[in-house]
Amino acid sequence: MLGLYLHVPFCSSICNYCNFNRGLFESGLKDRYVVALEREIRQAGRGEAVDTVYFGGGTPSLLEPGEIGRLVQACRETFEVTSDAEVTLETNPETSNVQRMDGFRAAGVNRVSFGVQSFRDAELRRLGRLHSADRARAAFAEARAAGFDNISLDLMMWLPEQSTGNWSESIDQLIEVGPDHVSLYLLELYPNAPLKEDMARAGWSQAPDEDAAEMYLGGLAALDAAGYRQYEISNVCRAGRESRHNVKYWTDGEWLGLGCGAHSTRGGERWKNVSATGEYVDRVTAGQRPAIDIRTMTDHECLEDALFTGLRLTAGVNVDRVGRRYGIDVWARYGDDLQPFVEAGVLRREGPNLRLTREGMLVANEVMQVFV
Ligand code: SF4
Repeated sequence: MLGLYLHVPFCSSICNYCNFNRGLFESGLKDRYVVALEREIRQAGRGEAVDTVYFGGGTPSLLEPGEIGRLVQACRETFEVTSDAEVTLETNPETSNVQRMDGFRAAGVNRVSFGVQSFRDAELRRLGRLHSADRARAAFAEARAAGFDNISLDLMMWLPEQSTGNWSESIDQLIEVGPDHVSLYLLELYPNAPLKEDMARAGWSQAPDEDAAEMYLGGLAALDAAGYRQYEISNVCRAGRESRHNVKYWTDGEWLGLGCGAHSTRGGERWKNVSATGEYVDRVTAGQRPAIDIRTMTDHECLEDALFTGLRLTAGVNVDRVGRRYGIDVWARYGDDLQPFVEAGVLRREGPNLRLTREGMLVANEVMQVFV
C-alpha cells in the first residue's frame, strides 16, 4: 500500500548540524503553507489505499493540533486511509505539553517520534538543541499520559566531546524511559556545517573512529539486553513496533511525498517537490504542480535500489524475489563482487536472503557500493 509523507519545514531555531530542508518558524508563512499542503494533498490522490501517514520535518509539532487534524482529514477524504493506518508525528520535546499531546491524538496521530538526541544536557547544548534531558523525559510522559502506546525516540552518537561512557549513559537513560521504538544515528558533519566552526572555536573534537564503532555496537548490545530487536541498521523496536512507514523505503515500496522538498516514488517514477517553502506555496496556490525532476526509473535503477535499501534490514534482502521482479539472477550478476564480503564474514547468504551481519553494518556503504 501507498505511504504518505507530509513535510513541515519550520523550526523554532536552527540546530548547528542540521542539513534538512527547514527554516525558522514564521506564523504567516506557516498559515499559507498549511493551506497549500492541504490543497496538494487533495490534488494528489484518487482514492488509493494508504496505510501510513508520516509528518516529518523540520518540526511538524510546531503546527497546532487543529492544523494537523485538517491535514489528516484531507488525507482521509482524498485517499482510502485504512482504519489501522500508522500516523506518525515527528515531535521536538520543547514543543510538547499534555494539552498539545491530547490534541494531536484527537487529530488522528497514533505514533510520536521524539528527537531527543542525547540525555546529557551538555551534549544537547553543543548541538544547539532547545530542550534538556528532563524536558525530553517529561515530553515522553506527556505523550504516554495522552494515550500514545507507540513512541519512538531518536538518539545521536559520536557527538562532539562524547566519550563511549557518555554514550552508554544516554542509552541507559533511554532504556529507563522505555520507548517502543528507537533510532540511533551517527552525527554526520556536512561541509560548512556551523557546528564545525563551533567545534574549532571551542576546541571540541569527536572520539576516534574505533570509538564510534564501539558506540554503535555497544548501544545495540544494551538495547538487545533490554528486550529490543534490531530490524534495520539504525532502528530497533519492541515486538510489532517497526516503523511501518519507513519500512516502505527499504522494501521497494511506494510513497507520495507532499510539501516542499518532499520526494516521491511511485509507479516506476521518482520526483521531488521544489525545496523553497515560499516557492512551493506560490506554485500550489497558483494551481501548478510543485514537482520537479520527474524521472522514469529504469528497471536497472529499481533493481539496484531494491538491493541496497533492502540490505539495510537485518532480515536482509530476498534476492530471489527481487531477481524475479526485475528478471535477473542477482547472484550471477553481482556474486563475484559480493563474495569477498561473504568471506570476510560481514555478509551472509541464508537461503534466498542476503544479509549484513551486525559488524557488516559498520561497513554497509562499502557493500552497498556493489549495487550502485
Ligand atoms: S529541529 Fe531538527 S529539522 Fe529543525 S533545525 Fe534542528 S535538527 Fe534541523
